[in-house]
Amino acid sequence: MTEKISQIKSFYEEAFQIFDAKSEMPEIEVRFYPYIGINHTIRVRSGKVFVRIAEICREMPMNSQKALAYILVAKLLRKKVPSKARQVYSDFIKTQEIREKAVENKKTRGRKIITSAQGSFYDLDEIFDALNQTYFRNSLPKPILSWSSRKTYRILGHHDSTHETVIVSRSLDDKKVPRFVVEYVVFHEMLHIFHPTIHRNGRRFNHTPAFRRNERKFQYFEEAESWIERNVKHLKRKAKIK
Ligand SMILES: [Zn+2]
Repeated sequence: MTEKISQIKSFYEEAFQIFDAKSEMPEIEVRFYPYIGINHTIRVRSGKVFVRIAEICREMPMNSQKALAYILVAKLLRKKVPSKARQVYSDFIKTQEIREKAVENKKTRGRKIITSAQGSFYDLDEIFDALNQTYFRNSLPKPILSWSSRKTYRILGHHDSTHETVIVSRSLDDKKVPRFVVEYVVFHEMLHIFHPTIHRNGRRFNHTPAFRRNERKFQYFEEAESWIERNVKHLKRKAKIK
């Protein structure tokens, strides 16, 4: 275990101590995971706690890691999330989002942005239509679908509700990537259209329990999750060598 992971793990132990002092400390496993966006999960399986933090937060400062630990453990134990923790974490996410937008703007400024759903291997329009038929009875309005201009590895998909756009990372437009993986990323973004963001008390809820339940309805859910876990880092390494 790296030093960083063990330090992060200690925040989770601390949070369990605070929110549930009476119970015995559970075994905790913390990992970074190449989720589709900024998205983390905490779950209990046979008494063990599994924490998966979105890869994009790997370089997050330790005070924000600690805040995230408090948020996830509070949610798991159905306790009130301390407002300080929420503040520290959301401040980090905001600056991160602003930084990424700034980078993207710099790259696209002064040149025409060409969006295309047709990649070299996969056609996002076709994938959307098939999924819409299978899982949504053709009820979802079609957004603008496009492969990203660059091959991104930390964010595989993105839904922008303001512009009704779904962007999929070009790193997945590759013959080595199984079709069900591309479908899974598109399916996830389609669920964001199906479950619009809920705003409550100034907070945004994207991946609600209902969203998560529907996500598991994807036929190749387990296969796609494990493929992403096994291969995204590998794709990145390969790209670096090129
Ligand atoms: Zn999402």
